[in-house]
Amino acid sequence: MTTTMQPPPLATARDVSKTFGTQRALDGVSLDIHAGEAVGLLGPNGAGKSTLIGLLTGLRRADAGTVELFGNSPLTPAARQGLGVTPQATSVPQTLKVREAVELVAAHFTNPVPTMELLEQFGLADMASKQCGGLSGGQQRRLLVAIALVGRPSLVILDEPTTGLDVEAREILWDQLRQYRAAGGTLLITSHYLAEIEALAGRVVVIDNGQVVADGTVDDIRGHISVRRISLRTPVPLDALAALPGVVDASNDDGVTRLVSRDADELVRRIVNDRVEFADLQVHAASLEEAFVAITGAGPAFSSKDSR
Ligand code: ADP
Ligand code: MG
Repeated sequence: MTTTMQPPPLATARDVSKTFGTQRALDGVSLDIHAGEAVGLLGPNGAGKSTLIGLLTGLRRADAGTVELFGNSPLTPAARQGLGVTPQATSVPQTLKVREAVELVAAHFTNPVPTMELLEQFGLADMASKQCGGLSGGQQRRLLVAIALVGRPSLVILDEPTTGLDVEAREILWDQLRQYRAAGGTLLITSHYLAEIEALAGRVVVIDNGQVVADGTVDDIRGHISVRRISLRTPVPLDALAALPGVVDASNDDGVTRLVSRDADELVRRIVNDRVEFADLQVHAASLEEAFVAITGAGPAFSSKDSR
């Protein structure tokens, strides 16, 4: 009998929990990341994404459960040799020159990408002799991602690398990350931009309230979130409307009823056929927030303004 051995995952979280004071940030999360995968970690603000990344990258310790990076504790330096990481909202040392900031990190690795080559790739070569503090916000973000790649890592973990970036800066970053992937690199990236996850990840893990609520291909997840919001004015009570086909959420605000539905066409047909009394009916693309509500059942409001 032949057995095919799957290589061990590059990163593993097994039944991991983490509490801050009374706030449970992670609640029994398990996740394996295998070589060559690009995993998008998607979830509302406060879901626990950064906490999970902090555990995987050795910045934090779990209260319960186990975390491994390249088969070791993420706290060991050996495990970190193969890792490139940009935590959420870190800043570069303001008084160092751009070249110096890269070299400082490069010195930790045995076979770093030559500094100028790296800066070239990220469109930062002209800035090499500038102080980091003099870069624009977008340039600083690009520099941070460049620095995450300087050690030729086999696993890159990025926490919201493009939040607040303009479209051009985002495209440069996406391009570099795609090249890293094409060269066989493994990627874990968090975002609350669905477009970013679609552009970069093959697998999507949705996390909400400290728990994994969905894990599948981008298409699987997109299927979940092809929901629409229908607004209308009607005297019909909410619970009657909530029972209509495909409705996953119903609310009322200022005389306007909002229904979130997985099948807007069918819902509108029913509203018309059942002679539901209504005015001002409109169908909108659902926000990412509503999509998460659709995935997570009910759940608290998704608080990110960026998703609107
Ligand atoms: P995300 O990155 O998905 O927005 P986080 O992992 O940052 O979520 O946060 C998850 C939860 O843990 C939130 O409720 C947050 O307020 C809380 N939390 C995170 N870090 C800390 C901390 N250092 N101290 C207290 N609470 C924290
Ligand atoms: Mg975060």
